[in-house]
Parts: sequence; C-alpha cells; structure tokens
Amino acid sequence: MHVLIVGGGVVGLACAHALADRGAEVTVCEAGTLGGGSTGRAAGGIRTQFSTRVNVELSLASVPVWESFADEFGVDIDYRRSGYLFLARTEETAAAFRENVAMQTDAGAPSRVLSPAEAAEYLPELRTESFVAATFSAADGVADPHSAVQGYSDAVRAASVDVRTKTPVTDLARVGDGGGSVDAGATPDAGGWRAETPDGPIDADAVVVAAGAWSDRVAALAGVDLPLAPRRRQIAVVEPEGDLPADAPLTIDLDTGAYFRPEREGTAIVGGHFSETDPDVDPDRFDESMDVEWAVEATERADDAAAYFGPETRIRNGWAGLYAVTPDHHAILDEAAPGLVVAAGFSGHGFQHAPATGEAVADLCLGEDACEVDVSALSLDRFESGETLRERNVA
Ligand SMILES: Cc1cc2nc3c(=O)[nH]c(=O)nc-3n(C[C@H](O)[C@H](O)[C@H](O)COP(=O)(O)OP(=O)(O)OC[C@H]3O[C@@H](n4cnc5c(N)ncnc54)[C@H](O)[C@@H]3O)c2cc1C
Repeated sequence: MHVLIVGGGVVGLACAHALADRGAEVTVCEAGTLGGGSTGRAAGGIRTQFSTRVNVELSLASVPVWESFADEFGVDIDYRRSGYLFLARTEETAAAFRENVAMQTDAGAPSRVLSPAEAAEYLPELRTESFVAATFSAADGVADPHSAVQGYSDAVRAASVDVRTKTPVTDLARVGDGGGSVDAGATPDAGGWRAETPDGPIDADAVVVAAGAWSDRVAALAGVDLPLAPRRRQIAVVEPEGDLPADAPLTIDLDTGAYFRPEREGTAIVGGHFSETDPDVDPDRFDESMDVEWAVEATERADDAAAYFGPETRIRNGWAGLYAVTPDHHAILDEAAPGLVVAAGFSGHGFQHAPATGEAVADLCLGEDACEVDVSALSLDRFESGETLRERNVA
C-alpha cells in the first residue's frame, strides 16, 4: 500500500508517521519546506478544554504523544504542562463553561470550574472583578511546533518515508479503475491516484490531503469541494511590564478572544482576533508580518484580563499565519472520494490534534480501526446534511 501525503506540516508528518508505523509505503510532497506553513506560526497550545466531545477526545488521544515525545522521538519539544485558563465575563459564557466541563470530565479530562478568586491562584494578577467564572485543566499545556516538526521529520525519514520538499502536487487524477496503471504493490483492481509534480508523476493507492490552508485547492485538483476559509491570525511576542510567571497557564479571555501565555526568557505571546471583519485571504499572497496597531490592541486586551501588560510592555516582534477555518470550526477527517482522505480545516487547533489525526487518517487509508477516537462526526458530508458541530471555545 503506497500512500501519498500532500503537505509537510505537522498534520501531514503525523499522518506519515502513523502510516509508516503500520507498514505502509509513504511519500510526502511538500510545496515548500517542512513546517513552513501554519505549523511554524502556531502558538503551540495543547488543550483538552473544547466544547465538543470529538475535539476533547482528539486532545486526550494526542496529549500522551506530546508528553512522551522527547523519549519517543528524541527531540525536546519544550512541552510545558502549565494548563489553560478560560475566563468568562458573562453569565451566559459561564453557563457554557459549566456544560463544557461536565462533558470534558465525562470524557476523562481533569477540567474544573473555578471562581475568579480561585483562578487567581493560577494567575495572581488576574483582574478578578472583570470575570464571573473560569475553567482550568491541568492536562493542558504548550509545546514548540518547530521542534515537533523536527521530531516527526527525523522519525519518518528513519522509517524510510520518501520526504520531498519543494515538490508541489499540481494535479491529481484517478487511475487504475480499469483504466491506467497504479504502482506495483497496489491492491489489485482497487484503483489509485496519479499526482503530478514538477519532478514527474507519483502513483499511489491513496492520497492524503494535509495541505493546511491550501487544502481546498489540493482537493479541487481531485474534483472534491472543501468548505475551507484561510483566515489571517497574528501573534505578538512582548516583554510584559509585570512579572508574568513562567509557569502561568495559557489564558483565554473568551468573551473578547484575547489570549496570552509566557514564552521564554521573560517574554510572552499575546494573540487574538478582534476585528469585525475576517476576510478570506490568498494563502500564497497574504501579509505574513504583524500589524503594530493590532499588537497594541492585543496587549491592551491582555492587560484588561490580567495586570501584566501595562504601558511599559515592549512589543518585540510577531508574525501572521493562517487558520484553515471550516463553517463549524471543526476539522474534516474523511475519505472524501475513493482513496482520497482529507485531514484539513482544523480551524486553529491542528497542531495539538496532529498525533490523533495521524492515527485516524491511517485507519481511513488502510481500512483499519485502531484509532481510539471515533471521527465520524468530522465527515465532509456533515455540511450538506446539516449535521454540523459547534465549537464554542475558539480564540
Ligand atoms: C497565529 C496562529 C496560532 C495558532 N495557534 C495554535 C495553537 O496554539 N494550537 C494549535 O493546535 N494550533 C494552532 N494554530 C493552528 C495550527 O497552526 C494549524 O492548525 C496546524 O499547523 C495545521 O497543520 P497542517 O499540517 O494541517 O498545515 P500546514 O502547517 O499549513 O501545512 C500544510 C503544508 O501543505 C503545503 N502545501 C500546500 N499546497 C501544497 C501542494 N499543492 N503540494 C504540496 N504541498 C502543499 C504547504 O506548503 C504547507 O507546508 C495556530 C495557527 C496560527 C496561524
């Protein structure tokens, strides 16, 4: 069984790893460099605090991989289990928090509802008067996406995966259903796919579309429509005026969308999307730099939540990347056409879900049932049938 993976971000590499581990022959085609898409621009957050069961389960199945990554992959990903703190300013948000925590704990996550005073034990400068409730999970944390890409790429190369960078897939055609030929070793009569690249065609029994914010374009090459919107999101690295503890949780002020977390050497990351407008952007031509006005707003909003980011806070640098957003803010994990598996549309949480996604994708490609998460709720046809999900914990 030969599987071609289109996209060498953390999702494509995690899929390659799971497939190679199960004995498949794997080729990864990456248009640019490994991790050079959204993965290299992520905040590295890993959380079990989602509002839908499938997202919680994808996290719970992924966390053990992040925890043991240094041992298993030989690369230190700077995994810090300092938790996530969600903050509610309104009773409506607090009510949703209570429902979420009931579901999360039922799924096995150690989440708790906290009063603002209890939340201040995790974040001493929290402006408790601005909030009515919070939630915290000690299972949550952060890791460095660049190191994760390094670990996965070392592992897949060691497992003889053929990793081709600077190799865009430019066309995809179905072959072998009584028509053209497929690779030796393919399942007889099963048919397969031929991918065109500048270095010549590649034949495979199955193709995985793991091209992040480009996935709708890649799927369109195979005649499959994906409802996917590339949306620009920014991060600023700042030197906070106050002394943000190095083990402070990643904190999300859910009603404003502002978030922050400690970074290395006394710096912090601040983020969030605050504009009324949220246009689709061209993933090949968007502004990858940080807007200074946005960074000032993000810093002020962070300071509205906790008094670390006063006027002496220095904005050091920052960047913009892309969320690949679906209409219901959930990924698409599905065999969208025979032998064409989609792993895309993670809507801002694809880094953390990559390990479990790899297992789910390996199941879909190989017709196995090894992944502990039932991802059937993430099928592509939910957008037609109307059985979409609703993720409320989005920042
Ligand atoms: C500012 C920001 C903060 C974020 N914070 C978090 C966070 O805290 N936690 C979290 O879990 N997630 C976060 N995310 C989301 C996360 O970055 C993505 O969900 C994740 O990286 C998606 O990985 P991927 O491999 O699917 O996509 P990508 O990393 O974008 O990889 C896709 C790859 O496909 C390649 N490609 C495109 N077209 C082709 C083609 N035709 N042929 C071959 N290759 C092609 C691209 O070059 C790219 O390298 C954040 C994102 C942003 C922008």
